[in-house]
Amino acid sequence: MKKKHLAITLSKLRGFKYPKIELEQYKTPGNVAAELLWLAHSFGDIKGQIVADFGAGTGVLAIGACLLGARKVYAVEIDRDAIEVAKENIKTLKLEGCIELINSSILKFDREVDTVVMNPPFGSQNPHADRPFLVKAFEISGVVYSLHLAKPEVRGFIEAFSRDQGFKITHRIPIEFEIPAQFFFHRKRLERISVDIYRFERI
Ligand code: SAH
Repeated sequence: MKKKHLAITLSKLRGFKYPKIELEQYKTPGNVAAELLWLAHSFGDIKGQIVADFGAGTGVLAIGACLLGARKVYAVEIDRDAIEVAKENIKTLKLEGCIELINSSILKFDREVDTVVMNPPFGSQNPHADRPFLVKAFEISGVVYSLHLAKPEVRGFIEAFSRDQGFKITHRIPIEFEIPAQFFFHRKRLERISVDIYRFERI
């Protein structure tokens, strides 16, 4: 499967039915998910590997990981409504055998995995909402791919924080993230925010 094909497939998946503002439920855009997963794939971090998708939402990253040959993906998501959407998406692509949906907080997940992929809440509703995601991911995996806002203060924080946790940033790739105006506070039809794709590796 080519990167572009992956992006198109993922962008066609169903989005959140009842997006919840406080949980920052934005479906990861197909092109952003494909970029993150392709990077992971190029490092051998997907094919044949055990992967976890934290805050799996509609299942985009988990599904993409399976399409690229992951052996097994744990898709961990706290919101029941989102889990239902993910279930539909997984069924559409017949990936039930590859993905295990886990309806719980990521804080309770404690299996070791080869790779974590995630699009955590960016922290625009609850400042630093992405921190527990990073802490947990660093705890259970030696390689982590994640998305964070491309703001100088966030970048500075992530650099220091990951170093303190014994991880180094091997890649940081800026990309535009388009969010359809699903929440009342979005004035435009499409909101565009700048994010960074990170690859972290245990030192
Ligand atoms: N990659 C997903 C979008 C992630 S948005 C997709 O494309 O659909 C962030 C997700 O994290 C939301 O679905 C939200 O419900 C979930 N979330 C927030 N806090 C969580 C927690 N503590 N444990 C598990 N999931 C959580």
